[in-house]
Amino acid sequence: MQTTIERIESNVRGYARLFPTVFQSAVGSTLTDTAGKTYIDFFCGAGSLNYGHNPRKAKAALLDYIERDGVQHSLDTATVAKVDFLDTFDRLILRPRGLQYRIQFTGPTGTNAVEAAIKLARKQTGRSHVIAFTGGYHGHSLGSLALTANQYYHSESYGSHNNVTHLPFDGYLDDQDTSEILAKMLQDRSSGLPMPAAVILETVQGEGGINVASDAWLRRIASICEEHDIRLIIDDIQVGNGRTGTFFSFERAGITPDLVCLSKSIGGGLPMSLLLIRPERDTWNPGEHTGTFRGNNLAFVAATAVLRHWADPKFETEIAVRSERVRQRMEQICHRHRDAGFECRGRGLIWGIDVKRGDLASEVIRRAFKAGLLIEASGNKDQVLKVMPALTIPMALLDQGLKILDSSIRQTMA
Ligand code: PMP
Repeated sequence: MQTTIERIESNVRGYARLFPTVFQSAVGSTLTDTAGKTYIDFFCGAGSLNYGHNPRKAKAALLDYIERDGVQHSLDTATVAKVDFLDTFDRLILRPRGLQYRIQFTGPTGTNAVEAAIKLARKQTGRSHVIAFTGGYHGHSLGSLALTANQYYHSESYGSHNNVTHLPFDGYLDDQDTSEILAKMLQDRSSGLPMPAAVILETVQGEGGINVASDAWLRRIASICEEHDIRLIIDDIQVGNGRTGTFFSFERAGITPDLVCLSKSIGGGLPMSLLLIRPERDTWNPGEHTGTFRGNNLAFVAATAVLRHWADPKFETEIAVRSERVRQRMEQICHRHRDAGFECRGRGLIWGIDVKRGDLASEVIRRAFKAGLLIEASGNKDQVLKVMPALTIPMALLDQGLKILDSSIRQTMA
C-alpha cells in the first residue's frame, strides 16, 4: 500500500515520508498500522489532537448526532449544533476568563483564520502593512504565507512578500529586548517602516523551533500596539486549546489581543477554524468575508464535546502534572548531552529539544519510529525534536514515550 502512496500522491507529501507505514486506526494517544504495530503519538496531528484520537466524548456525540440526522452542512445558517458550540465556548472558556469576544467562523483550516484576521485589521485601520516575526508560521495560502518566515516555503514568483516586515522574535538576538526595536522603528520616521495595521505572533512558536516569548515581552508588544492603534493578533492555532497549560496561550501574560486565531484542536479532531474578535473591533459588514465550509456542524458537535474537559477544574492541574514530567525529562536529556550543545525549550505540553543539527534530529525520529514512537521536528533546519503529546495522555504512556525518545537520542549520539 505504501507504494500506492509513492506512485500516486504528489511529491509534496511530507509526513508520509517521516512515518513510512500505513495507519489503520487510532485511539487516544496511540495509532496502529496495517501490520498491527502500535505507536505512541507525540506528534498529535501537529497540534490538532490535543484531546487524543477519537476522543470518547466527541465520538459518542458525533454518532448520536448522525443517528438523529442532524444538519450536516449549513454555510453559516443557524443550527442547534452551532448554537450549542457558541453557548459552550462562552460559558466554559470566555466568561470564566473575563473575556469578551465575538466569534467569526472562518473555515476548515488555520490559514483561513489568519487570512480573516489580516483582512479585518487592514480594513479597519486603512493600513496594509503587517509586522510578523522571525521564526513565525502562520500558514501557506498567499496572504498567510507572507507572514510565515521560513524561506523554504517561499518563492519570489509567488509574489507573497508584500506588505510584511519580519522583526526579531523574543530571544532571536540573545538577551536583547527585541520589543524595543519595534517601539523605536515606529517612532523614528527614518526607519522606513510604514505604520502597520497589525502585529501577528505566536506566544510559543511551534513550527519555528519551540521559541517561547516571555510574558514581559508579550506585554510590551501589546502596549506598543495599543499606543499606536495597531491590531494585535495572537495566532493560537497551535498553542491554544490548552497546549501551554491554560486554554489560551496568552492568559499568563495577562494581555487581551484584539484578534485571536484558533484552529487545529478546537474542532476535537475535525476541521474548523475561527477568529475571536474584540466586540468593538467587529466591523465586518454582513457577508463581507465568506467561505462555504464555515458551517461544518459535525465539527461543532465534536468541538462542543471536547470543550467539556474545561468544565472540570482538575483538567488544568492534570495538564500541569504531565507538563512537569515532560519538563524534568527534557532537562535530564539536555543535561546529559550538554557537550553536544543540546538545548530544551517549552511550556506546558509543547517542548523542543534543539539538537542543533537536522541530520541528528532525523536519525532520532527514524529510531523512535522503529521503536514505536511518533515524533516530528521543527525549526529552520528541522533540528528541534518536538515533544507534543495529547493533553489527555495517560501517565504510563507518556513515560513510555519519553523513555523511547531518550534511548533513541542516546543511540543516535553513541
Ligand atoms: N498558524 C500556526 C501557528 C500553525 O502552527 C499553523 C499550522 N501548523 C497554521 C497557522 C496554519 O494552519 P493550517 O495548516 O491548518 O492552515
